Amino acid sequence: MASGRPSVLPGRVPTVRELLAAGGRSFSFEFFPPKTDTGERQLWRAIRELEALRPTFVSVTYGAGGSTRDRTVEIVERLAHETTLTPVAHFTAVNHSLRELRHLIGRFAGAGVRNILAVRGDPPGSDPLADWVAHPEGVHYAEDLVRLIRQAGDFCVGVAAFPYRHPRSPSVESDTDYFVRKCRAGADYAITQMFFRAEDYLRLRDRVAAKGCDTPIIPGIMPVTQMSTIERSEKLSGAPFPPEVAARFEAVADDPAAVRALGIEHAAGLCQTLLDEGAPGIHFITFNKSSATREVYQALTPAPAASAI
Ligand code: FAD
Repeated sequence: MASGRPSVLPGRVPTVRELLAAGGRSFSFEFFPPKTDTGERQLWRAIRELEALRPTFVSVTYGAGGSTRDRTVEIVERLAHETTLTPVAHFTAVNHSLRELRHLIGRFAGAGVRNILAVRGDPPGSDPLADWVAHPEGVHYAEDLVRLIRQAGDFCVGVAAFPYRHPRSPSVESDTDYFVRKCRAGADYAITQMFFRAEDYLRLRDRVAAKGCDTPIIPGIMPVTQMSTIERSEKLSGAPFPPEVAARFEAVADDPAAVRALGIEHAAGLCQTLLDEGAPGIHFITFNKSSATREVYQALTPAPAASAI
């Protein structure tokens, strides 16, 4: 997947910026830090299986607090040292002072990790829309994180984008304005929240382009593999699952194999439309499992490995 990569210094891990600038399509996979040893084994199995597809990068989410945060850093360090993959570390402002944020950035640099996805994070707890309280010595918005990382050194910084607008944004207009500000603060690219209709991505891209911002926006895709994914996606994305797509799944809801097959077919069709419409790549949300992602990836034409960066 990495054919035609730009030349980089020997031994230096390329940035997502450089990989995207090479002009090909980017394919990437997102993992989360597991809480148990069994989860850890499943994660590394998925990483090894997906490594063979030579993704442009892989990313690891950052937990709301506690031990999963250390695990994010450990997994990213291990990816950098023990695999052929380019790791992107997600990084949030939640419960961190500026001093801690700078320390963490330094730790990534020490491990040779130069790619960071700067997201503000949701408040810890079960309600992502609870009041967001900044650390008294921390930062308020992802835009501030972007500046902080940029000031710290030669990093490549990604940010989050929301096709349906962020659930906290009072309007699509303000969501777009603050997204563009975040890009202008120094973001190299963005990855979207999961969505299920190509038009939602295309509208976001048009809104951003209309503001004169050309930061590449990579669609974030999660295949539906069971009916509960639909419910979960609504909770995770903060937006209702599109009713016309839900109706297709409801028609086969009693047959788990048919739900999964439809999920793969739907995700592959969505990815294909997005790529045909000029999306710079696809970021797959894997939930630490490789099979559905691999099936969607393999259904794309031309085969990504032949045409990617
Ligand atoms: P921001 O860009 O700071 O925006 C938050 C809200 O504030 C928006 O409504 C925005 O319009 C508004 N806003 C922005 N700037 C200003 C300003 N200057 N003045 C007033 N309003 C402003 N969460 C995690 O905890 N860990 C992860 O690893 C993680 N990874 C993610 C990866 C992706 C691709 C995506 C899409 C989301 C991810 N999230 C993650 C979730 C994310 O942290 C939450 O959705 C969070 O609530 C918003 O993050 P943000 O970076 O978009 O915030």
